[in-house]
Amino acid sequence: MMDEILYVTRPDMPDLQEYVKYLERIWDSRWLTNNGPIHEAFESALCQYLGVKYLSLYSNATLALISAFKCLELSGEVITTPYSFVATSHALYWNGITPVFGDVDPIFGNLNPSYIERLITDRTSAILPVHVYGNPCPLAEIDSIARKYGLRVVYDAAHSFNVRIGGVPLVNFGDLSILSFHATKVFNTIEGGAIICKDEETKRKLDYFKNFGFENETSIVSPGINAKMNELQAAFGILQLDSIDLNIQKRSQIAQRYREQLKDIKGLRLIPELDHVQHNYSYFPIFVDASGINFNRDDLYEYLKINKVYSRRYFYPLISNIPTYKNLKSSEPQHLIVANSIAEQVLCLPIYSTLGLENVDRISKLIKDRFAGI
Ligand SMILES: *Cc1c(COP(=O)(O)O)cnc(C)c1O
Repeated sequence: MMDEILYVTRPDMPDLQEYVKYLERIWDSRWLTNNGPIHEAFESALCQYLGVKYLSLYSNATLALISAFKCLELSGEVITTPYSFVATSHALYWNGITPVFGDVDPIFGNLNPSYIERLITDRTSAILPVHVYGNPCPLAEIDSIARKYGLRVVYDAAHSFNVRIGGVPLVNFGDLSILSFHATKVFNTIEGGAIICKDEETKRKLDYFKNFGFENETSIVSPGINAKMNELQAAFGILQLDSIDLNIQKRSQIAQRYREQLKDIKGLRLIPELDHVQHNYSYFPIFVDASGINFNRDDLYEYLKINKVYSRRYFYPLISNIPTYKNLKSSEPQHLIVANSIAEQVLCLPIYSTLGLENVDRISKLIKDRFAGI
């Protein structure tokens, strides 16, 4: 029997017949975008599901990140992590803000607060950490540094859909948090995103901003952009809410199976699961430490590929090493030792709700065989 090709992710899809019902409503009303009824229903259903009070839907997380920095009127320098998806730093670039990279911790790959203070200058306006793979950043430390220096904190929470820490939604921390609903994320609206904020005034600002700054027909209150979520995306999202709990549960079983199969392998490291965190199992990263073995991460990547398993080097290359940012002072690799090291080691294995435990076993066996030198 031929093994099927396994991709790193496959998007969850809502029931097609249920989606067609929404399409019929949209066709009848001809209300396609601009705060339509489905958009409004999705926004409030999402707030309730996530346990947040103020949320503004966006067409994608990149425009949401760009808008977040514009709405807070931030400029100068922002301290961020090089170990993320490029959109994190690009959002600063599009605001004319210089990213200042700090190194990450070696366990979770999140921005390491012990390096933040020495990167602060009189131009620093904010900190932009990322909850990498949905694992919470050191919230208290980051908060206390921000307070001490009067900085804003914007979390790139693209991986953190419904992650909770001690029962509290992770997106409730910081001044703003940004979620992504891209097709590859744990919860998707095809493309989509949202900004979570703390008060009604900010929510209004964010709402106007994504619609060119229109407050009403004739009053344009800010130099906004077009970043609205449309009715077709919102309908997709409403239906996804019905199955998200089950899908995350299936992901959890997959993650548990990987953990059982891949434990105690010399040269292979996993990220520990935290008891007080409700995870969403959005990714399953493994780290290959080539120092004690005769192959490296890229060899394992190619080996899996030959065997029809498409893993992903996520995050590689490091943002600080790509042409746009590599000449910044803070990009010098000697200041980013841990980030450079884990970017060379990481491999994200396939994980999605329909993967099937037999496929997890197949992937795990390939990895175990490779490490055993078979
Ligand atoms: C996916 C992702 C983004 C961008 O999200 P889009 O909705 O695709 O624009 C930003 N930051 C991180 C960390 C991401 O993983």
